[in-house]
Amino acid sequence: MAQRSITSFFKPAGGTSGTEESSSAKRSRQESPQSHGKIGEPEKKVQRKSEESDKKENKSKNSETKKESPKAKKTSPKSKIKASPLKKEIKLSPFKKEVTAGPIQKQISGAKKEANLIPLKKEISEDTKEATNNDEITGKATSSSSTAEKEVDKNDATPVKKLSVESNQCGAEYNPAASKYHPIKDAYWKEKQSTPYLALARTFEMIEDTKGRYKMVEILANFLSSVLLLNPEDLLSCIYLSINQLAPAYEGVELGVAETTLMKVIAVSTGRELKFIKTQTQEIGDLGIVAERSRVSQRMMFTPKPLTVQTVYQKLRAIAKSSGKAKSPIIHDLFVASRYSEARFIIRSLIGKMRIGIAEKSLFQALATAIVNSRQYDDKNKKKKQSEADIKKDIEDITFILKTAYCQCPNFDKIVSTLLTHGLDDLLKYCSMEPGVPLKPMLAHPTRGVSEVMDRLKGNFTCEWKYDGERAQIHRDEKGNVNIYSRNQENNTTKYPDIINRIEHFMKDTVKSYIVDSEVVAWDIEQKQILPFQVLSTRKRKNVDVEEIKVQVCVYAFDLLYLNGEALTSKNFEERRQLLRDNFNEVEGEFQFATSCDTNDPDDIQGFLENSIKGNCEGLMIKSLDNDASYEIAKRSHKWLKLKKDYLTGVGDSLDLVVIGGYIGKGKRTGMYGGFLLACYDDENEEYQSICKIGTGLNDEDLNTHAKFFKEHTIPTPKSYYRFDSSLEPDTWFEAVQVWEVKCADLSLSPVHKAGIGIIDPEKGISLRFPRFIRIRDDKSAEDATCAQQVAYLYRNQDQVKNQKSNAAEFDDDFY
Ligand code: ATP
Repeated sequence: MAQRSITSFFKPAGGTSGTEESSSAKRSRQESPQSHGKIGEPEKKVQRKSEESDKKENKSKNSETKKESPKAKKTSPKSKIKASPLKKEIKLSPFKKEVTAGPIQKQISGAKKEANLIPLKKEISEDTKEATNNDEITGKATSSSSTAEKEVDKNDATPVKKLSVESNQCGAEYNPAASKYHPIKDAYWKEKQSTPYLALARTFEMIEDTKGRYKMVEILANFLSSVLLLNPEDLLSCIYLSINQLAPAYEGVELGVAETTLMKVIAVSTGRELKFIKTQTQEIGDLGIVAERSRVSQRMMFTPKPLTVQTVYQKLRAIAKSSGKAKSPIIHDLFVASRYSEARFIIRSLIGKMRIGIAEKSLFQALATAIVNSRQYDDKNKKKKQSEADIKKDIEDITFILKTAYCQCPNFDKIVSTLLTHGLDDLLKYCSMEPGVPLKPMLAHPTRGVSEVMDRLKGNFTCEWKYDGERAQIHRDEKGNVNIYSRNQENNTTKYPDIINRIEHFMKDTVKSYIVDSEVVAWDIEQKQILPFQVLSTRKRKNVDVEEIKVQVCVYAFDLLYLNGEALTSKNFEERRQLLRDNFNEVEGEFQFATSCDTNDPDDIQGFLENSIKGNCEGLMIKSLDNDASYEIAKRSHKWLKLKKDYLTGVGDSLDLVVIGGYIGKGKRTGMYGGFLLACYDDENEEYQSICKIGTGLNDEDLNTHAKFFKEHTIPTPKSYYRFDSSLEPDTWFEAVQVWEVKCADLSLSPVHKAGIGIIDPEKGISLRFPRFIRIRDDKSAEDATCAQQVAYLYRNQDQVKNQKSNAAEFDDDFY
């Protein structure tokens, strides 16, 4: 990657207007529970305390001899022994036994004599293959340096000392939270040196210990400023690691590592018993912390080569690419090379939950701040003078540019490489929209009736039928490649070979490339009418053979986002709609434009709504025709309102909730689950918050289907990021893998449920009254479930609540 000089890279951004801080960003971070959010218990504090004691432990020269937290002591499997649990554990560790009696020990002693690392690596590698039952985990990784980093004789204290002396120089004290942080002097690595992973882990640590979002962003920004000034080549890895992604979401790169695999690796690598790791995880609620503790208590013969952000990122990618058992050796490699809190964050990356509350929104702010910070330092590392107001304005402008670039091109590889080669000013030019790269769709706000629509949309608007199918973003590039993406940017192309086969007929000769936004619905060829969503859902999800298709589909196109090399998103809806109509042909039952009615008359709207329902639709989408009604990528916008038939009074919308547990059925439901515990997703705290129990709307067939499905997804204990009251504990816990659409009579404040806790009331969450199961939402992942802010918005938007005075913030249009 060609790299610009530091000073030329950070050219001031053009005068683009800033965006507002989102309402969610305004909300102060909640104390997220260490595990189960039991009412009245300051659990986070308990966890923090134990984490703090761990941190102290990390810093200690003889950390093995420190006592573990009282919690761990209480349940230690060998609690009858008087010695401190940790000490005792080392004494009794099965790994130690192996070391004492087994061939590894021989090799280590041999190595001590020879003091030669390379032959030792080889010997251990062969030995391990032959003599331990851990091949699966160490496997080929034994050929790398990490395998040489074994525990050594407990009488040999030298390596421990070495580690503690090293701790002062190796970044264990790195503090990106320092006030007046200097991105060059306060970084412990030098220009052009690879960015140490420990610096990033320390950054995560500090963020985790911070409550305010502003400070969290500042900490990340400080670290990123150092990266930008010292080795910008590492920026991409730092970004991906911070938001726990490995590639653009639409590439679907998944780590695919089970928690039990991680536990096994930790057990084998540290010599701790698997049972002990499991108990600890259950108690602490965080395998990352358990991993860190286990790692800290290890003595090492050789100081491992420090991990860099690039190594960690590349190894995580390698884990994602490798299949099954081949993953474990790479994880093992990473784990044994980790120091201090590195183990915690490596394990959390592998689990898929960083628990530091940094999502894309905060990342953009931090990166923008880092860019502004970095350009304040001239070659002599002295700070240039700039007023606070100018700095703030610059940060806002750059955040806006970054967000816009990401909305058009949700690909950090491209954004970062453009930043480094062309600078900020050209970012939007190079990271523009293009067919083949799915966009996050524009979404609508719910309303509860025609009068609410009239209150909200002041100018001209149009009403369209709201089709009940599956959103489809159809992309065609100049070469004729066609792809269909879901609402979630998943590639659904192989689901619709029939659409692909006939798609060329729908466009006029003038068309070379396009992105059409549409809804695919099931279509009855004989009756020439739309069929309900349930029919569409019977269609196979992938690799559909066109010969076997039983459910025919029709595409209802409602927007055109790109045409012949030009992005249309900044044009208003009326223009885009005209271009759609001018450049495409309707074919009945195959490709049609959304039925619409441009009217501001409430009676006409009401009549049109009734027609839409007769036409097997869900209701209406009402869209502004004002001049500024651009296509707002990745936004839930007030320029689009949805009006659904069932909710003309009441809540206004259904909710999409994650199933996290099941209650064993009684009576007629014996032998299956009779009810389920549902949760919304709080993207700010990265946790699932319980919102209701549900048992209504589920027929026997549903119950059987759910029982079969969740059998494959049960977990022995709730995930540490499930927030619920102990009184609601289900009989079986599930992984957060399925989303259900649910309707309810209304929403109320709840002393037991945790949805949106802290938004409306500091101690109460929100729950659903009379929830009813509607359907499974296969097109939504658990993290796309209705978020805590939306739950609060729906709660607040109820008449009975609206009439009460509320100081709570509005749920503004913002990137979701
Ligand atoms: P959301 O997408 O708002 O989170 P959701 O996925 O549950 O909610 P709905 O509440 O049903 O979806 O409403 C929005 C969806 O309606 C769009 O994402 C789109 O798939 C569908 N839709 C159907 N007809 C239209 C139309 N004419 N214009 C826009 N969207 C439409």
